[in-house]
Amino acid sequence: MATKNVYFFGGGKADGNESMKNLLGGKGANLAEMAGHKELRLPVPPGFTITTEVCTYYYKNKKKYPKGLREEVEKAVKKIEVLMGKKFADPQNPLLVSVRSGARRSMPGMMETVLNVGLTTKTIPGMIKQSNGNERFVYDAYRRLITMYSDVVMEKAAGIEPKDDESGIRKQLEKIMNKMKKDNGYQFDTDLKAQDLKKLCELYKAKVKEVLKKEFPDNAYEQLWGGIGAVFSSWNGKRAVSYRRIERIPDEWGTAVNVQTMVFGNMGKDSATGVAFTRNPGNGENAFYGEFLINAQGEDVVAGIRTPAPINEYSKSEHNKELISLEEAMPKIYKELYGYQRNLEKHYHDMQDIEFTIEKGRLFMLQCRVGKRNGPAAVRMAMDMLKEKLIKKEDAAMRVTPAQLDELLHPIIDPKVEITHKALAKGLPAGPGGASGQIVFSAQEAVNWGKQGKKVILVREETNPEDVEGMRAAQAILTARGGMTSHAALVARGWGKCCIVGCGAIHIEYAKKELHVDGKVLKEGDWVTLNGTKGNLYEGELPMMDAGQENKMLTDFLKICDSIKRLGVRTNADTPEDAKRARQFGAEGIGLFRTEHMFYGKGSEEPLFRLRKMIISKTEGERRKALEELFPYVKKDIKGTLEAMDGFPVVMRLLDPPLHEFVPRDPAKLQDLAKELNISLEELNNRAQGLHESNPMMGHRGVRLGVTYPEISEMQIRAVFEAAAELLKEGKRPYPEIMVPVVCEAKELNDQLEIAKKIYAEVLKKYNLKKIKHLFGTMIEIPRAAFMGAELSKSAEFFSFGTNDLTQMGFGFSRDDIGGFLPDYLNKGILPDDPFQTIDQAGIGELIKIGIQRGRSVRRDLEVGICGEHGGEPQSVEFCHRVKMDYVSCSPFRVPIAKLSAAQAVLKEKIKK
Ligand code: PEP
Ligand code: MG
Repeated sequence: MATKNVYFFGGGKADGNESMKNLLGGKGANLAEMAGHKELRLPVPPGFTITTEVCTYYYKNKKKYPKGLREEVEKAVKKIEVLMGKKFADPQNPLLVSVRSGARRSMPGMMETVLNVGLTTKTIPGMIKQSNGNERFVYDAYRRLITMYSDVVMEKAAGIEPKDDESGIRKQLEKIMNKMKKDNGYQFDTDLKAQDLKKLCELYKAKVKEVLKKEFPDNAYEQLWGGIGAVFSSWNGKRAVSYRRIERIPDEWGTAVNVQTMVFGNMGKDSATGVAFTRNPGNGENAFYGEFLINAQGEDVVAGIRTPAPINEYSKSEHNKELISLEEAMPKIYKELYGYQRNLEKHYHDMQDIEFTIEKGRLFMLQCRVGKRNGPAAVRMAMDMLKEKLIKKEDAAMRVTPAQLDELLHPIIDPKVEITHKALAKGLPAGPGGASGQIVFSAQEAVNWGKQGKKVILVREETNPEDVEGMRAAQAILTARGGMTSHAALVARGWGKCCIVGCGAIHIEYAKKELHVDGKVLKEGDWVTLNGTKGNLYEGELPMMDAGQENKMLTDFLKICDSIKRLGVRTNADTPEDAKRARQFGAEGIGLFRTEHMFYGKGSEEPLFRLRKMIISKTEGERRKALEELFPYVKKDIKGTLEAMDGFPVVMRLLDPPLHEFVPRDPAKLQDLAKELNISLEELNNRAQGLHESNPMMGHRGVRLGVTYPEISEMQIRAVFEAAAELLKEGKRPYPEIMVPVVCEAKELNDQLEIAKKIYAEVLKKYNLKKIKHLFGTMIEIPRAAFMGAELSKSAEFFSFGTNDLTQMGFGFSRDDIGGFLPDYLNKGILPDDPFQTIDQAGIGELIKIGIQRGRSVRRDLEVGICGEHGGEPQSVEFCHRVKMDYVSCSPFRVPIAKLSAAQAVLKEKIKK
């Protein structure tokens, strides 16, 4: 049987359904479901979907369509005609259609749409008759068609690149309209009369011919095919490609094309169009939320040109409370819409984003899809729907993405500082959290400044899909116009970016690069701060702080993740304070305590001085003396951390960096040290020089230090066991795991194990104890160590993969210098990702698998974890789950993200099975 290329929907029936998103795109599949599913059968204007497979075919076959497509499309058009009692291209009773894109995943505004297709000089009179003589309406529709069609089909899809922003056909046509408005003294588009619009259409067509050297097509079918081709072409348009890169949408997916009967929200005061959400996408509250415009087309709502009115009391805000709501204006229709949206949510078990149009008092449902939401809203909806028994706990855990969870952990403006500042202006809170940066007025500038490492706030009248790269590069987005469903709000919400829209009090002078607000003039580069949760704009750079960790909803959500996940989630923490904070985040132990960190930062002066003494020591005697002085500091830190993690394991790593790193550079400090050691400055310099290495990363560090200077390991191991012994005596439950770094050979490890055994026996005796619960193990961070897994696990009771060094040494890329060439590698597609951020599963991942398999071949209960930076990155966590590690360890702030990723790894595995 020939492949089916066209799927029909309408009249209570549909060829497709919701499960066919890959083939019909998200929009097409949902239209089919809404129109045809027996629980729904909503009033969807009839239409059809051309599959994504046709798009793939089109690109594989030099932009040709598969055989039979034309006939299938014509047949589907006939079916619409029967249902609507109208005819496409018919002069008496013409049918108009829209042509829209629709990929598997929604790509808001990134591809093209053409509306009012089918309006020609032949069908215009019929259309006027149909609309009860409303000439104004018909010519308004016609001028919109000419604008969209010439821009999308005749310019963009034809590959014509205008010289600059101003010379694109759309801009040129807008200029004609603006001139006409000015000449007539009109303020709004709606002031244009029928005769004006009629004239405008003629001027438009002439301009199109002049600029694009082609007539605007006056044939309905030619328009239809032009529209279809343009949508397919827009899959490879600049902004769609950019968006796909950012969102990691594969190029092969392709888009579907939806051709659907036009219904008009601009047929007068009894017509309207709107966008609504079954729950509030800004905070997750279970309340119907939306905006609409009377006498307007859908594009007017999304474009943010007019401030839309609230659909109900709940949707009223500072900005729109004066406007009359849909509930007040058309109560019967509101009730009908309210019923449909309840039904849709019940049917889909998730929050839906709905587009509707009211044509002369009749409600049509144009679209529904799972609504985008920000992080706080995602968590709230998941927890509420679970309580409402709309979803199960497994669904709840899948409803929040790691990136959304991250938003809950986002910085906010320090509230203590914020209350002392007066906001310059207030807008709509479209994206939560706080952000500060220097203002720029174009997307390109945002990208350029961002590349220089500057923090920028992108300020625009309103954004459009062309701004997407700049929006990405900015810390936050501020727009003067638009509502909560405008482009900027939608995109920012999807990305969880701080964003304020509809900030009417700001006035932008693009040419001068100035922002006028509250009697002040801010210039490009001036600092502002945004509170995207409240919608407040402040002058200057306000301090940020971490978001509240005391979020009950978040804690409950993480409990659900805990009940699903198999992987343990530990944290990397180096101080008792970090350990405490990590416990609050729910860390189940410490996967890496980097001993050396006690020598950096606050309170490190004294221990550091003693460490330096030890480093500069010449003889073992000198060194032992210095180590003895150092001992109480090390023990205190270790004890504090073991205590904070009471009952949970703490991996204590022996000293890792090369000693030379700790030698002071400050002459005064060198002088003090020389004095303390009773040697000359010259002698001190000589000794320090002696520690210098050409390639310290691969030099005298990690276990190699312990081999050369066993007394260093002795001191640290003694500190661990004595700290644990004291805690045991105090009735606590310490659980240290002693970890040796930079190991590549079993004999190195055995050398250290002997030391550990000796010290352990001494400490037991000293404290009169029978046992201190502990483990002895190694890091696997050198490729050779992974291969030697079987030998190593004879002495090691645990492995912890140090994927920072394993990546560095596996790739031979310096972890400190990769920034110099990584962008080229990513741009050229040589590497898909930064391997220091996400585990390179193909290469480094194989080393990990080999290490685990060989290690466990000798010791079945070998404990395996990861402590490199990858331990908090969602894809890497999923990998760690798959290769059956016992735990991941990451920075405290990433613990919730790792927990969610670990739970999702379990659920994804189940789905696959
Ligand atoms: C590692 O190499 O992955 C690791 C955790 O150690 P560090 O980052 O301290 O070298
Ligand atoms: Mg390392």
